[in-house]
Amino acid sequence: MSKTLVLATGNRGKVDELASMLSPLNINVVPQSEFNVGEVAETGTTFVENAIIKARHAAKITSMPAIADDSGLEVDGLNGAPGVYSARYSGDDASDQQNIDKLMHELGDNPVRSARFWCVLVFMRHSEDPTPLICSASWEGEITLKQHGEGGFGYDPVFFIPELNCTSAQLSKSQKNAISHRAQALAKLLDALKLKGGL
Ligand code: IMP
Repeated sequence: MSKTLVLATGNRGKVDELASMLSPLNINVVPQSEFNVGEVAETGTTFVENAIIKARHAAKITSMPAIADDSGLEVDGLNGAPGVYSARYSGDDASDQQNIDKLMHELGDNPVRSARFWCVLVFMRHSEDPTPLICSASWEGEITLKQHGEGGFGYDPVFFIPELNCTSAQLSKSQKNAISHRAQALAKLLDALKLKGGL
């Protein structure tokens, strides 16, 4: 018999990605919007805290097991910024371009351009689960001096991957989904779920 869990995101791309990876485990993934779960304030100062806040909120309202993710960009030359503020670096309703512009302005010609995307995934069996599964992964790169590529979203046009000699905005969707921080964290969560025998 298949089991259902709620995904604490409104992002259809993330739902599809997770649904296809969890279907071999007989797990259906349903976005929180289908249960009228609204957004919750991300008040944590770490990716782990924010992912737990989102998973707990979805599990509480739906009375179902929940998965949430939180992700962002860590830039060494900016002491780890924008970090958990990646989506709202340039203000609450900032566009991707405004966030990139602020990043380029803050970094200027700083030679320390190493950076990484982080993704933390949290699985909670119920809203008061004291031992959530927490899996994280990073993807190493460097911040470019100029934007390159039209694909992806967020900071992809300025995230250069040395081994591939291009930015993550120059990768196809399937190339990015095979190697990104999110893909790596998902693979770890799948292994952790299998070890636990599913849900
Ligand atoms: P969220 O996990 O959807 O809340 O993403 C947080 C923010 O981090 C996004 O709005 C982007 O600015 C940035 N981010 C996370 N993952 C990526 C990625 O794969 N490419 C580019 N930017 C990303």
